Amino acid sequence: MDAICTVIGSYAPNTRMKSTSCYIISHKRKLLILDVGQFVKEKIVKYICSTKQEIDDITIVISHNHLDHVAGLISLGDFLIKYFPHVFVKIYMSDTSEKYVNWYKMMNKKYGNAFEFKRLDETTVFKFSKYDVSFAKTNHCSGKLKSYATKISDGYNTFVYTSDIASIDDNIKKFVKNADVVMLDAGNPVERRKTLKGYHGKTNEIVSSVLKCNVKSVFLTHLKACFSETDYLNSLNEEDKRSVYIVHEEDVFNIFSSIKSLEIFKIQQSKVLAVV
Ligand SMILES: [Zn+2]
Ligand SMILES: [Zn+2]
Repeated sequence: MDAICTVIGSYAPNTRMKSTSCYIISHKRKLLILDVGQFVKEKIVKYICSTKQEIDDITIVISHNHLDHVAGLISLGDFLIKYFPHVFVKIYMSDTSEKYVNWYKMMNKKYGNAFEFKRLDETTVFKFSKYDVSFAKTNHCSGKLKSYATKISDGYNTFVYTSDIASIDDNIKKFVKNADVVMLDAGNPVERRKTLKGYHGKTNEIVSSVLKCNVKSVFLTHLKACFSETDYLNSLNEEDKRSVYIVHEEDVFNIFSSIKSLEIFKIQQSKVLAVV
């Protein structure tokens, strides 16, 4: 059985809600949590409490220190110490700061005795269960703040989570090459745009660039609230559309899923619902 990804973060197109990032990858008795944005603590708690299996250890990776990727970490830390003191928790985050807040130092000071803190950079590699996990720097931010894409591979299949990204540069092309699934920052369907904090790409450009790297499926995530899913899909060319899936809150999928297997899963789900 391959690792399973549960989408915890929320993306609410066409609303005023802000998107927030969090994905839980589980394999056997281990969890790898990619990003812990604001407002996700309750959902992570619900996930952990509903897991039938005991959890031995939790590895948390913060791709970059924007609030929609890191702000839930404080309350999650308090919860883990109180209710899961026996679980081994390791946290990878970069020590770069923005606007005078150095999350690495702040979190290390608060939780340094309870959790193991590791600095995240391009040379970071570790094992998560049977998988190799590695990282590449993306061009989401300029200046001091750094953002990293995460790769999970079992030697045959590969899953990449880009987190926020401005464009697919040569570094990322190499990183995603031949991947089964790239979970990609959906960016902006109209134009490449700089928000207050960082850059996000133009959807059709970044999707096409990723698919040209022999990637089988692109899962779009981190949709912007001012656009609908249709806006995103309509911005893609017909051929690319067939390899693209839009991720929703509470989606659960095998990290190496093909679009086809997801469609079969959906059909099975609707049959079950029809019977019920
Ligand atoms: Zn960001
Ligand atoms: Zn973001």
